Formats: sequence, C-alpha cells, structure tokens
Amino acid sequence: MKPTTGTHVYQLPKCSRAVALELAGDRSLRRELRPEEELVLGRGRDHEADFVRDLGWEEPEYPARDFAAGAAATRAMLEAGVPGVLQGVLLGEDRLGIADLLRREDGASALGDHHYVVGDVKSSARVRGDQILQVAFYSEMLAALQDRVPEYGYLVLKDGREERFLLEPFRPALRDVLARIEALRADPHGVRPFLARACDGCRWSPVCLPELESADDLSLVDGMTEGLRTMLEGAGVTTGVELAGAEASKLARRTRIENALLRRLIHAARARLGGAPVRQRRSLPVIDERPAFVQVLDDPFEGRVLWMGIGAENDSGDFVVHGARPRELGEEWPSFRALLDEVDGERPLFHFGPAVPRFCEERAHATGTGPWLEQRLIDLTRRVRGTAAWPAPVFGKADLIRHALGRDPHRAGRAGAAPLFASSEDEPNWLETKGAADLEDLRDLHAYWVDPRCEVEG
Ligand code: SF4
Repeated sequence: MKPTTGTHVYQLPKCSRAVALELAGDRSLRRELRPEEELVLGRGRDHEADFVRDLGWEEPEYPARDFAAGAAATRAMLEAGVPGVLQGVLLGEDRLGIADLLRREDGASALGDHHYVVGDVKSSARVRGDQILQVAFYSEMLAALQDRVPEYGYLVLKDGREERFLLEPFRPALRDVLARIEALRADPHGVRPFLARACDGCRWSPVCLPELESADDLSLVDGMTEGLRTMLEGAGVTTGVELAGAEASKLARRTRIENALLRRLIHAARARLGGAPVRQRRSLPVIDERPAFVQVLDDPFEGRVLWMGIGAENDSGDFVVHGARPRELGEEWPSFRALLDEVDGERPLFHFGPAVPRFCEERAHATGTGPWLEQRLIDLTRRVRGTAAWPAPVFGKADLIRHALGRDPHRAGRAGAAPLFASSEDEPNWLETKGAADLEDLRDLHAYWVDPRCEVEG
C-alpha cells in the first residue's frame, strides 16, 4: 500500500473514501482532469515557481521515485546547514512528506546549532485549516528527523504574503486525522462512498457514483447526511426504495429522527423513485416589479470579473442580455452601473449564490460609491430549493437547473473555465455565450419559482 502523504492529510476532512481510494484504489479508473482543473493546477505550479525563484535554494537530487535516496539527500542538505531546501523529502514508517519549503532557523537540534521549519506555497487568498494540517504533518516528520519540534509553520499565499502559525494548537486535530487514516490503511475497502458536494470536483466519481446507484444508496436522497444514513440503516432502511415506502411516524419511533425531517426525506425518496421533482404547497411570492437577472463570470485567481451581464425583458417582451467585459479592475463597477442604467426602473435583481452580492459589495465599497444594491438583490437559491422535493441531492445551482428545468447546466461550458476563454482567439465569444445561457437559466428558474401550479400539489 502507498505511504500516507500530506495529500491524504489534506483530503481527509473532505472525504475519507477519497483517501481510501488514493491509498489502495486503481488510479487508472479516475476521470481525466477537466481543462479548468488543469488551469488551476498549472497556475499553482507557476505561482510556486515564481516564489521560489528568488530564494536561491536547491532541491535534493535523487533518482525519480526513489524516496529513500531523496530523504538521504535531504538530510545531508539539512546537516550541512543550507539556508533552505525546496521539495525536501521526509520519510517515516508508512509516511512520506514532500515539503515545498524547509527553512533554516537558529536554535540547536540533532542537525547542529540550527534547525528547520516547514513552509508550503498555496495559491489561495486565505489560510485554510486543511492547509495547516498538511504543514503540521510535515513538521511532525521533520521533528523526528532533527529531534526538535519546530515552533511554527508557515504558508505563502497567492499575494506572496507569509502567514505563520503555531503548531501546538493543531496537534490534537492532526492526531485525529492520522488515526483515521491509520484505520483506512487497515481496511481501505471498508469505507463506503457518500454522495456529497465534493463529488462533482472529485476524480474518483466514476468509481463511486455507479456504486452508489447500484446500491440505491440513501445518500442519493436529497437532504441525507451520513449520520441520518447510519440511523436509518440501523433501523433496517438501507435503500432509497425502502425509504420511499416507509411511514414517517413508525420510522420516527424506531430511529428517534424527528418526524418532520423524516417526512421530508421520505418525500425526497419518492421524488427520486419517480425521477422528477414533486412540487410543494407554498404561498406565492409577491413581487410587483418586472425582474432582471444578474450573472458575473470571474477569475478567482486574479480576483477579476471577466464578464458581467444583466438579462431582462424589454417592452416588447423579448429577453435581452446586456453584457460587458471590463478590461481592468477599475472598470468593473462603472461598467456594472452602466448595464443597470440600460435596464429600466428599479427592478429586483435576481441572482444565484453569493458571487453577485459579494461583487457588488466589494466594488461599491472599494470605489466609495455605495449603496451597493443590497435591497434589490434577491438570491434564488433557497427560494427555488424550497419549491419541491428533489429527485437527487441539490448542492447548488447546477442541480436545480438539471432537475427543475431538465437541462444540462454546463451546456455552454463550466463557469470555472471562464479564465481559459477570456482572451481566446479560437472561441472569442465563449464568455458571452456562457453568460447568456446562465441568464436564461436564471430567468427560467425564476419562472419555476413563481409557477402558480406549485400551489395545487402537496
Ligand atoms: S466521488 Fe465523492 S464519495 Fe467518492 S471519493 Fe470522491 S468525494 Fe468521496
């Protein structure tokens, strides 16, 4: 079996099945990387290469994949007291760590009158807990090598800023993660998949999704959690079909799950069985103004909006998309205000998720030109979600478009691919086409939300 690595420590909080598959699965079964995932990885590599270029540090030299030789070469560099090592190899029993940065500090250790601390280069804007755990893992291996526990670790973020953190407070969490990985190593085939938000971005989905489908797994029912699945299975309800046929009050007595929650899960299991949403009884929204719809396509790495658009019906009843490509950060808010001026009145602005309000708030504050439209922005996420029992888990906009509208949410491409097409000569209109498709989805989801037929079914 492969050794435990920093990647496993980093992955475990997201999905233990993914770690089990990384340890003992057949990697040829993973799906190919999507172009936008390749882009993110490539940018991460470039960012790291840019950062380390000026350090003047070396990497240990060893034959490819001969990590014992790599660890020996790393140790020799550390004993020689070099200012720093890039991609240093740390080896332990069943453990392998390749740290981006090992930096020399004063203070005696088994290496001499100096010791080292661990750093990692990340392309995120903020420090995350999983990144700290990865550094803590490498630090523990380094501590064994130099017989001195490093006091701190550090991360170099997207803007080149160094963020230091003490390692001591993270030891209990690291111990817990490593104990869970040990349990996976002992029985890698004993952990089952659970359909979660992370699955869409996971390369092991071609392995897990058919497995879940063939087992009619309870995680395919909207609203399910791992805890609820365990409780239901303990009460003998092990498949979606069995849940769909259950009676809430009886099951509540056997499982101690709240009756109302069970009713929701049973509704969702029945929707799954029927293969279509089951509309729920509710009161209709009262919004007098004609709606407008807002979408932005951005480049999170650059922190820039690449395309912005507002879609609305004109007086003839035609749906018209007003779009703009700001050329630089300073143009974003004026361009957006100009688009708003093209759409008459004080229409409510429907959007999906936090991206549009975040854009409006940040840009309005940055330019000192508030108010930032807070009163006019309406997020369709929860509103549409509450209109039906869904035939599959709904993690976001894409799932609602798929189930409510019966269309592929990525038919014009994935939003994450926008940076690839910002200056593409092959597909110069990709952003406009994608933005228009997203605005049509928003328009149609809004129509789904206000559809009066949802009052008659319960
Ligand atoms: S597809 Fe989902 S359940 Fe399977 S390993 Fe990936 S995240 Fe985990």
